[in-house]
Amino acid sequence: MRWVARGKGTAMADLRTVLAVRPEGFRLAEVDPRGTPGLPDDKVVRKDPKTWAGEQLTAITAELGAYQEKLYAAAKADADGKRVLLVLQAMDCGGKDGTVRNVFHGVSPAGVRVTSFGPPDDEERRHDFLWRIRRALPPAGYLGVFNRSHYEDVLVVRVHDLVPPEVWSRRYDEINAFEAELAAGGLTLLKVMLHISPAEQKERLLARLDDPTKHWKYNPGDVDERARWDDYQQAYQDALVKCSTDAAPWYVVPADRKWYRNWAVASLLRATLAEVDPRYPEPDFDVAAERRRVQAG
Ligand code: AMP
Ligand code: MG
Repeated sequence: MRWVARGKGTAMADLRTVLAVRPEGFRLAEVDPRGTPGLPDDKVVRKDPKTWAGEQLTAITAELGAYQEKLYAAAKADADGKRVLLVLQAMDCGGKDGTVRNVFHGVSPAGVRVTSFGPPDDEERRHDFLWRIRRALPPAGYLGVFNRSHYEDVLVVRVHDLVPPEVWSRRYDEINAFEAELAAGGLTLLKVMLHISPAEQKERLLARLDDPTKHWKYNPGDVDERARWDDYQQAYQDALVKCSTDAAPWYVVPADRKWYRNWAVASLLRATLAEVDPRYPEPDFDVAAERRRVQAG
């Protein structure tokens, strides 16, 4: 692991190195959902990691806001500007909504496009599975977020035999070709699986039942899905391994601890944006001359 010194304070790892799925030998079952990989190993962090991560998150979300503004400014000057898309996948109660709420609170709502994917409607069903995905891609200058995605078409669809095996098994290659095309077109994908344990899911389902203000979030169907846990894990294992490519790698974030999850996803997004490196465009006017004109008026 490489540590990059940042100012006089804390050292930060590039979490991408720590959390990326390297297809060879990757086993989802070996990733501890309660783990906190990549936290800096220093005294302050060890003493109270939760507080440290919360403080970091606040700083990182401000940076994300600044990056998004640059992305937008750059796109205004260049219509073929860069786009960034965070894809979130998880088991039910995995924390996708909470992640979006926490990671994006420093970003202008005008600069974020969040799309949630449920079962396809009649029109969507008449098209190829990627049709609705293409339509929801963020325009240049925006941060896109997918709450579920085209991966449902090799997850829930596979577990429930919604299409024959010869159809879903072709989709891994189709997804890889699609994502390579997006990457070539200037869209940077950050694909994150929030990995929770069955015990944590049970806690969260019970918490939803215990709190009347959370009943709306409770879906009795989630209990039926929960019974298929192992089938889902197998489907995730295959999707992660088959579709973690150089153009669009997968990251698995242990997600039983919400504070770690938020910090990790925010850090991954920051590292991604740092690499995209959006820049304010040069003004296409003479700044000094404009200042004189404004002052004269
Ligand atoms: P939620 O995220 O709780 O609103 O639930 C959305 C539901 O839609 C989940 O049960 C997903 O598995 C399901 N879903 C999403 N995409 C698809 C798809 N392509 N085919 C079938 N079900 C889907
Ligand atoms: Mg749900």
